[in-house]
Amino acid sequence: MADRYANFANSGLGRTVVKRLGLPDPPRLRRYRPGDTIAAGPVLLGAAPGGRLAEPVAKLLENAGVGVVETGSADTRYAALIFDATGITDSAGLRALFDFFHPYARSLSVSGRVIVLGTAPEATAGPKEATAQRSLEGLTRSIGKEFGRGVTSQLVYIAPGGEQSAESTLRFLLSGRSAYVSGQVIRIGAGDAPAPADWEKPLAGKLALVTGAARGIGASIAAILARDGAEVIALDVPGAGDALADVANRAKGRALQLDLTADDAPARLAGYLAAGAHGGIDIVVHNAGITRDKTVAKMDESRWDSVIGVNLTAPERVNDILLEQGLIRSGGRIVGVASIAGIAGNRGQTNYATSKAGVIGLVQSTAPLLAGRQITINAVAPGFIETAMTAKMPLGLREAGRRLNSMSQGGLPVDVAETIAWFASPGSATITGNVVRVCGQSLLGA
Ligand code: NAD
Repeated sequence: MADRYANFANSGLGRTVVKRLGLPDPPRLRRYRPGDTIAAGPVLLGAAPGGRLAEPVAKLLENAGVGVVETGSADTRYAALIFDATGITDSAGLRALFDFFHPYARSLSVSGRVIVLGTAPEATAGPKEATAQRSLEGLTRSIGKEFGRGVTSQLVYIAPGGEQSAESTLRFLLSGRSAYVSGQVIRIGAGDAPAPADWEKPLAGKLALVTGAARGIGASIAAILARDGAEVIALDVPGAGDALADVANRAKGRALQLDLTADDAPARLAGYLAAGAHGGIDIVVHNAGITRDKTVAKMDESRWDSVIGVNLTAPERVNDILLEQGLIRSGGRIVGVASIAGIAGNRGQTNYATSKAGVIGLVQSTAPLLAGRQITINAVAPGFIETAMTAKMPLGLREAGRRLNSMSQGGLPVDVAETIAWFASPGSATITGNVVRVCGQSLLGA
């Protein structure tokens, strides 16, 4: 369903009306196209005294071809402001944030980026430092709400010893791939992550399974993983027939018809993967999902059971069998698709929100168990994404979903897909147990 309001607001007349009446002003977001530079201009990098990240990050960005400057000028338009806050060890030190951001708050280009780098509170030396580092969330989330014009703002906690593995995340956050991701806290663990041979094709040689791939977000995930070099198995229910075949053909991959809720579905999937020449699978994206909305008072058993069955039990059963049989290869990636409804709750969606909060629980409880096997597990939590699922919503709710976020617009399936591709990259080997919302910093589920 086209966002007619956003189209109007970006027309000549619309811009005037929106400004005069103080209406929501959805900017045209800079989205990634193959061949684009990482950052669309110079990046200003600052640091609090004693920070441990500015130097390795400057080197890493320069090697990646990003123009980094360390002395700001009020006349320059920056593509990004990056601040290393790891040197802040108490609340007095927080002043360094104001000193850095105040002079340049109006110097970012449209779809500019703010990235604050910190140490996760649990990895600090004591309560004063932990408190200061926890404070960074308030700053980054507020900047995301203040700056407007498609600017995104994130906090990235990098574990000591994880400096070298930040490249995939910085590339993702600086580029148009993260257009609809804002107000997020990302944790990068210690250890090295292998740089892909080609950052334009980071998934070359990988085999990826995408469930629910016949349409909507799943179709986009299949296309983006294929663009990034993966061979894709696109899975959906037998009834999805032609649409599934089209997605698989466009991705130059394979279609697999399977109802994931069938008793024997996990075993059939495992058998299919075991029989393949690849000897297993590298990337599993649990995207298939359904809604069956009713308030809990009016809900029947079948609505409850079917939603929990597709959205939560199926990913659990598939993970269990693939892991038990060693079919997820070393360097493997599991990505769940949660929802902001699973974070904030939603009227009429007790079943759906329960299942999606469960996806978050699955990720957080499984991540530590997989660390020794070089397999990561993470989730995206989409907000309002323009798909067949959201086109069915009543007009009022649909408009609220589109406007009540820092971008004043809905996201596109590709925004979710790009975030999944970042988790899937070999360069993201030290990112596990994370849940990243793709919601334009929705007011729901803060
Ligand atoms: P969609 O309804 O357009 O597509 C879902 C796909 O999953 C369909 O092709 C469907 O056939 C498939 N599927 C359903 N049950 C299945 C089963 N038993 N076995 C195999 N395949 C099955 O939905 P979408 O909007 O593209 O959403 C994709 C995912 O993103 C879902 O998990 C959804 O909950 C989540 N999500 C979507 C939004 C949004 O705004 N669209 C927001 C938050 C989360």
